[in-house]
Amino acid sequence: MNLKDASLLKSRCLVNGEWIGNPEIVVENPSTNEAIGSVPRLGGADARLAIKHAQTAFPHWSRMTAKERGKIIRRWYELMIENKDDLALILTSEQGKPLAEAAGEIDYAANFLEFFAEEAKRVYGETIPSHKANARIVVTKQPVGVVAAITPWNFPAAMITRKVGAALAVGCTVVCKPATETPLTALALAELGQRAGIPAGVLNVITGKSFEIGEELTSNPAVRAVTFTGSTEVGKILMRQCASTIKKVALELGGNAPFIVFDDADLHAAVKGAVEAKFRNTGQTCVCANRILVQSGVYSVFIELLAKEVAKLKVGDGTGRGVVQGPLINAAAVRKVEEHIKDAVELGAEIVVGGERHELGGNFIQPTVLKNVTTSMLLTREETFGPLAPVCKFETEEEAVALANDTPSGLAAYLYSRDIGRCWRVAEALEVGMVGVNEGLLATELAPFGGVKESGLGREGSHYGIEEFVEAKYMLVGGL
Ligand code: ADP
Repeated sequence: MNLKDASLLKSRCLVNGEWIGNPEIVVENPSTNEAIGSVPRLGGADARLAIKHAQTAFPHWSRMTAKERGKIIRRWYELMIENKDDLALILTSEQGKPLAEAAGEIDYAANFLEFFAEEAKRVYGETIPSHKANARIVVTKQPVGVVAAITPWNFPAAMITRKVGAALAVGCTVVCKPATETPLTALALAELGQRAGIPAGVLNVITGKSFEIGEELTSNPAVRAVTFTGSTEVGKILMRQCASTIKKVALELGGNAPFIVFDDADLHAAVKGAVEAKFRNTGQTCVCANRILVQSGVYSVFIELLAKEVAKLKVGDGTGRGVVQGPLINAAAVRKVEEHIKDAVELGAEIVVGGERHELGGNFIQPTVLKNVTTSMLLTREETFGPLAPVCKFETEEEAVALANDTPSGLAAYLYSRDIGRCWRVAEALEVGMVGVNEGLLATELAPFGGVKESGLGREGSHYGIEEFVEAKYMLVGGL
């Protein structure tokens, strides 16, 4: 990897301001399956030690003024921007997304630090008119304490800063466990955090045995909040484990996003939105459109336009010129997409574009569009997490809403229509945490990101994101 600053490529973990552990787990480039680095295989005892240091660091960090903490977080933001090229290259090398998209993620990730550095100063409390003439009700917001953050591989930078930025801003200390597939971006961010002046023990990043580390982070009484982004399956395990010590939990889990196109939509905008919502990160985001629902009057023409755009998507190594679709994260991800295509075709779906492994081999698969898709098919019930766009037909608005809500997930939804009444009605009826109305991309540090139903608990980003890491304290001040 040709970095300007080779010291950003770490092979050890950060605990209490020191780099520890021996490089043991090999990190592979999903595009070539070549080894690009290795990181320690830490376990439960190491997690316990990291928690202890985070606990020790908490009193000092939480008592610093918000402005002082904000300055350090702001400096961290600036260092991310200064090192954007290197961070993007590390990210692409371990995750696969095209370099331009990786640079976009670094900007997005850094924006969370910028936002929370500012927001640190606005963790306001409240006074409430009292029930007693000689007493006053005051509510303050206090940091919960040690926070554990467990993050996934699809956004190796942004999922860290979205959690850690908010937690640090309010005065919490953190133990972070990045995904085993993408630890190098996390460790590079930790290095920049050190350079920004985050004190020892305030931010600890550990890699290794997910299950063991997860068990310690969710059961250790010193950890007061667990914030997790990943699969619904693992989210349920972590929530169950948190029950014994009643921790605050914030979970951002899987989705099954409907993308609804009505007869009266601007079709060109809808196709552009569908490509963005479906194929970003090669379909590997939790808000990716998983089911494209199109009203019968425009069904055929929408498919024709969509197919034309999808056929243009250039697949290849993320560092290649003009590439917009990288590899999937691993072989299992490719098999899942294949399985969804096979099941759908057996049940009557038709391939319009793609449908097979890409000639590049390895973890590459062709961007695919399927038509004549029905709800009996696996791909409408499960999150595909790949570049597969299944298009279903519906007749009425009621049917569209019923189809959209017919899932235990409730993260994002998208709808395209030029009828303002319909936009409001449908957006309000959708059982999700986020709706794109004539928009295919939702994520920004300024808005609350999160889901309902089995897609999770809590919100990240914006001032809502602060709430996961503070507790309200009510004081009744009497004797006046
Ligand atoms: P994905 O489908 O994105 O790989 P996972 O839920 O499997 O999602 O992984 C998300 C994160 O959770 C990763 O950091 C992974 O290492 C971690 N993880 C997976 N299983 C467990 C577990 N049993 N306990 C704690 N963390 C886990």
